[in-house]
Amino acid sequence: MQYVSTRGGMSPQTFSQVLLSGLAPDGGLAMCETYPQVSSDELNAWRKLSYAELAFEIIRKFATDIPEADLRDIISRTYTEEVFGTADITPVKTLAPNLHVLALSNGPTLAFKDMAMQLLGNLFEYALAKNNAELNILGATSGDTGSAAEYAMRGKKGIRVFMLSPYQKMSPFQTAQMFSLQDPNIFNIAVKGVFDDCQDMVKAVSNDHAFKAAHQIGTVNSINWARVVAQVVYYFKGYLAVTSDNSQKVSFSVPSGNFGNICAGHIARQMGLPIEKLILATNENDVLDEFFRTGVYRVRSSAETQQTSSPSMDISKASNFERFIFDLTGRDAALTAELFRKVDQEGGFDLSDSPLFAKIAEYGFVSGSSSHADRLVTIKQVWDQFGVEVDTHTADGIKVALEKRDVNVPVLCLETALPAKFEATMIEALGRKPARPAAYENIESLPQRSEVMEASAEAIKAFVDAHTK
Ligand SMILES: *Cc1c(COP(=O)(O)O)cnc(C)c1O
Repeated sequence: MQYVSTRGGMSPQTFSQVLLSGLAPDGGLAMCETYPQVSSDELNAWRKLSYAELAFEIIRKFATDIPEADLRDIISRTYTEEVFGTADITPVKTLAPNLHVLALSNGPTLAFKDMAMQLLGNLFEYALAKNNAELNILGATSGDTGSAAEYAMRGKKGIRVFMLSPYQKMSPFQTAQMFSLQDPNIFNIAVKGVFDDCQDMVKAVSNDHAFKAAHQIGTVNSINWARVVAQVVYYFKGYLAVTSDNSQKVSFSVPSGNFGNICAGHIARQMGLPIEKLILATNENDVLDEFFRTGVYRVRSSAETQQTSSPSMDISKASNFERFIFDLTGRDAALTAELFRKVDQEGGFDLSDSPLFAKIAEYGFVSGSSSHADRLVTIKQVWDQFGVEVDTHTADGIKVALEKRDVNVPVLCLETALPAKFEATMIEALGRKPARPAAYENIESLPQRSEVMEASAEAIKAFVDAHTK
């Protein structure tokens, strides 16, 4: 399996090559040249596999340059009960007939990002050891990516993490999770701005090819191809958990920000998984909902980006969205490059009058958005009716799922975080604190360590330079 850029300007690369790189040299994103297909017989054979076994079967189709015995070892060390709290790894909670929650948040940072990041940590360590190389991970986070990356990379040989987060905009729990890490290979940088300022700093460094090469800069942001692939696995696992034969279809509801999680669902569907609908849910920052409803993709400015009670979806542009547009255009790299040139120069593009807009439905996407009031109501309703606590992001997904689903088709709502991470809003919705796993009891009172910085690419370059000598 070879990888190409969505903008057409990269000679084909292997999985291991795209694993360690961020944006493609032409500014596009890495994509597999074709989607590996899963036959119905193969899908049936997978019904009896454990999570790790299933992950191996799927990921081996993408990571063809890693020897199978090595890959199997990496994956079996990653998806364990010890790391993810249950032997199932992603258990299903059934709320009502055809209404399920796929639990993805039992990893070390209590959010679904651990599902991919824990694998990435082990893949990176393997690839670096093989090449006798070092890697400096530069990332931007609105909360969950950063902690997931840091918990996956802490103490790993040859790896440093420089994680940018918007100053004082994460929840106290998220802040404590990240800033309490004392590992010398972890650097937390609080940027005076919003998440997108952080992401722009990362992009600016990635586009400075000389600096990037001289400092062995890599990324773990959601544009990382291996992360997307790792997420494909739980769509299969969820499907197999709620069906008994492959003639059945299911839908997935996905709380979306950077389009990473739902991009994995799109890929699973392209591989042949019988997915009826991919229900995309945004919060008040409804860039993606607007696109799927109207065909207009309009990125927001920092000033227009709202700080909401589902903060991990507070984005103004969706960094993985280009992968879907590449497919939507029939993999026309020149057209994709042109559309994303417009995003950079004119703030968006409009497909409302294009035949491409009509094609969106063929990919199964429907969308909706949710507000603070909606999520409070949903959290309360899910607790009162089903006795299940869901966090604010998961609530956004459930709210939109209930609006958009076909009641005759099972829908799996992806649980993207545990309520403990967003205590203030949970108290507002339920009038009490949510359950908190015992290991996290006093996390806010641990000593914290971070660096405050202006939103400037030069500032982060200087900091990285000073800490990699
Ligand atoms: C990252 C995140 C999301 C959004 O996922 P994307 O892949 O960026 O669309 C939703 N919920 C939570 C809790 C997250 O951490």
